[in-house]
Amino acid sequence: MKIKFLGAAKNVTGSRHLIENENTKVLIDCGLYQEREFRSRNWEKFPVSPSSIDCVVLTHAHIDHCGYLPKLVKDGFKGKIYCTHPTAEIAEIALLDAAHLQEYDAEFKRKRHNKEGRKGPYPEAPLYTVEDAKRVPRLFKKVRYKEQFNITKNITGTFYDAGHILGAAMAELSFIEGKDVKRAVFSGDIGRWDKPILCDPYTFDEADYVVMESTYGNRSHGDHGTCSQDLSKIINETNKRGGNIIIPTFATERAQELLYCMSRMLSDDKIPHLMTFLDSPMAIDVTKVFKKYPNYFDEDAKALIKKGDELFNFPLLKTTQSTQESKAINHVKGTAIIMAGSGMCTGGRIKHHLLRNLGRPESTILFVGYQAKGTLGREILEGASKVRIFGQNVSVRTRIQKINGFSAHADREELLRWVTGFKKAPKKIFVIHGEDKTADEFGELLKNKLTSEIIVGEYLKEYIL
Ligand SMILES: [Zn+2]
Repeated sequence: MKIKFLGAAKNVTGSRHLIENENTKVLIDCGLYQEREFRSRNWEKFPVSPSSIDCVVLTHAHIDHCGYLPKLVKDGFKGKIYCTHPTAEIAEIALLDAAHLQEYDAEFKRKRHNKEGRKGPYPEAPLYTVEDAKRVPRLFKKVRYKEQFNITKNITGTFYDAGHILGAAMAELSFIEGKDVKRAVFSGDIGRWDKPILCDPYTFDEADYVVMESTYGNRSHGDHGTCSQDLSKIINETNKRGGNIIIPTFATERAQELLYCMSRMLSDDKIPHLMTFLDSPMAIDVTKVFKKYPNYFDEDAKALIKKGDELFNFPLLKTTQSTQESKAINHVKGTAIIMAGSGMCTGGRIKHHLLRNLGRPESTILFVGYQAKGTLGREILEGASKVRIFGQNVSVRTRIQKINGFSAHADREELLRWVTGFKKAPKKIFVIHGEDKTADEFGELLKNKLTSEIIVGEYLKEYIL
């Protein structure tokens, strides 16, 4: 068996790893590159012929893990895509959304280039269209956690709860080599312990090979137990001042976690009943998937459901699917909480809400997620006094707040907790899915803690297992 990293090696997006022997090629995840520096790789020829890949094992529905699937299918992949039930449903929503965005961006770029009379480095065509994305879901083969699936006569797979987003899995592959059975564990994205809604990340007793992420391999998030205290403080203070609370929100997991937190705080009388809007069609759709799969929740969440509580709903919550409904939010008098996408303010309805609130000192813009370099969200968070939205210069006078603890990714201590959970040190541990320096630093940390051979995975390099 050999492994080759086709992405997320010394960078954090474009997760795709090829496991192969003479007869079989298995692709673990099939993500899109999202970091500006690496996005051109989305347009390069796929390093292995898509039609020669037997199957894809998909750990979860984030675009950096599943977002290249429509292109892989368009270019000839015909095999099964193994994933959990919630992953299949959330991935379908996310892929359609990504395809819409690609079409929109290509059209926008074409118009701009025409106007400016120039050509860019890539075609003014979407990487894939909505029609392409619609061809993916029929290949999904849904399996539950801990339910073994047969990839070939000699290779089986099993998913375990990653505690990262709903349905997210770690994948264990077992393969027969000579008389031995070898095990390789792919961590996917590792979640966190004691998070609301989700179960803790699964820890394994043994494996021969481990391929693990290192996104926050050099950082601590701090205590996430204070999230809801911080949130209630910000909501109460802004309510006193008579402003709005605007929350740029990622549609998957973060939106549902916020709804869950707010419904808990309301039932504990920690915040007043305020008009609250989930103003994101994608987040509304993903919330429906959450409601459909309560068996994937942790014990606390299940106990609340048993008691008859609604986890993602409360009296003054309004979900706004249509543009008309979204526009009507502007007419609400008094304090409102508005959650809208995109999470980094790069597009979507959040921009309209920012336009109306950035100039109001009584309002609060609350960031609850990572803001990448070069995004509008990052500019605002870093204290820009003026930003450009829809071609207008807008002064920033509002209060800017950030809560760190909502992260869905394990930090350094949690990554260590997971990898030291193996009762016997694995033979080899590959460190991937971390920025160059982070992956190296985390690799060094592991070398000091474990007897395993530690390898920081390199892009397109092949390793013998
Ligand atoms: Zn993820």
